[in-house]
Amino acid sequence: MKTEFSLAQLADPDIAEADKILRACVHCGFCTATCPTYVLLGDELDSPRGRIYLIKEMLEKDRPPTPEVVKHIDRCLSCLACMTTCPSGVNYMHLVDQARARIEKDYSRPLPERLLRAALAWVLPRPGAFRAGMILARLVRPLAALLPIPRTASATPTLWRRIRAMLALAPDRLPAPRPSGGSVFPAQGEQRGRVALLQGCAQQVLAPRINQAAINLLTRHGIEVVLVKDEQCCGALTHHLGRHDDALARARANIAAWLGEADRGGLDAILVTTSGCGTVIKDYGYMLREDRDFAAAAAKVSALARDITEYIGGIDLRPTQQHGDVVIAYHSACSLQHGQKITQAPKELLSKNGFVVKDVPESHLCCGSAGTYNILQPDIANKLRDRKVANIAMVKPDMIAAGNIGCIVQIASGTSVPVVHTIELLDWATGGPRPGLN
Ligand code: SF4
Ligand code: SF4
Repeated sequence: MKTEFSLAQLADPDIAEADKILRACVHCGFCTATCPTYVLLGDELDSPRGRIYLIKEMLEKDRPPTPEVVKHIDRCLSCLACMTTCPSGVNYMHLVDQARARIEKDYSRPLPERLLRAALAWVLPRPGAFRAGMILARLVRPLAALLPIPRTASATPTLWRRIRAMLALAPDRLPAPRPSGGSVFPAQGEQRGRVALLQGCAQQVLAPRINQAAINLLTRHGIEVVLVKDEQCCGALTHHLGRHDDALARARANIAAWLGEADRGGLDAILVTTSGCGTVIKDYGYMLREDRDFAAAAAKVSALARDITEYIGGIDLRPTQQHGDVVIAYHSACSLQHGQKITQAPKELLSKNGFVVKDVPESHLCCGSAGTYNILQPDIANKLRDRKVANIAMVKPDMIAAGNIGCIVQIASGTSVPVVHTIELLDWATGGPRPGLN
């Protein structure tokens, strides 16, 4: 794609990067076929190619985003299916991240929307506030029936519609909190490794059993696990809301905490059980590339970051129970399959450890979770969830496995089949409790 940035514009490293990305696009349109919003809405401006044109116009003309641009960028899930499909290697992720940051800086959203986004950006990364928010949401949920109901589903939802979506996602009960930052779980038997495990923010409130399963499995196989003190939210949530500075501040704090721990006790890896977080941590090196004080450290952290299944793939697991009769539908989270290109490892681990693993039809399509997307764009998100659940039902599973808490919550809201994390199944196969019962 031909671009016309001025030399002055190209002096800005972000614009120079955008220019490189835009030039790689040959506008072939292959990406449109696998883009969930294009598949649902059929509008070129809701396809990757359409959005790339909109972003190019906005950046090249250096003008504030228009409501039309904002509408179509907001509808993008950042699922990155387009990056998997693109034959020219267009880095849509870095382009749309830049567009979101520009929108956040230069566009004035209506006041109710600004307040909602500010509340999400403040509450979600803080587990204490998130827990309180979930309890409050559960208490006021009966009042949701009093909120105005839009007559038709909309791709531009009202504030009330978004609040209803948020209340609907609150679970009926919250599990008790588990150990937090500063805890060390020693290896059982001979120690073979030492890792940090990202505590996550929403996940530690909604499903602490996931990291508990990871800790159980790792320590059982000789790996010491550390929950690093002073670790924060990875920044993914605010990053996807366009709050670049907040995300970078969190990245810097985590880098200091993790590398401090690595200096003290050594770390073979920083393990992540929420693939949405893993994708962003693996991108810290890029996000902080212009920061003289942090660029090298950020690259080091990104190199240490591993999805839990990547790391476990390198360990000889010792299965103690066979589950040949349990059929697992494997839901490939977008952040894992498109963001981190991890497609086979989780399925191979499950098969090797005795499960019957089934691929889900249209597995490249997002389930609609996508960070805060199911709150901010609930009607599109619900359509994607229903499509995902229908595809999953076709393989008649006993359980559904996924590697991302957002997907687990989203899919579970549309099916009665238990939805569990891959690591819970592997823990079960190697001596842990059966998941999906709590
Ligand atoms: S597939 Fe790649 S090169 Fe083709 S239009 Fe999409 S982003 Fe551009
Ligand atoms: S990230 Fe997903 S929703 Fe956004 S343009 Fe790419 S394929 Fe479409």
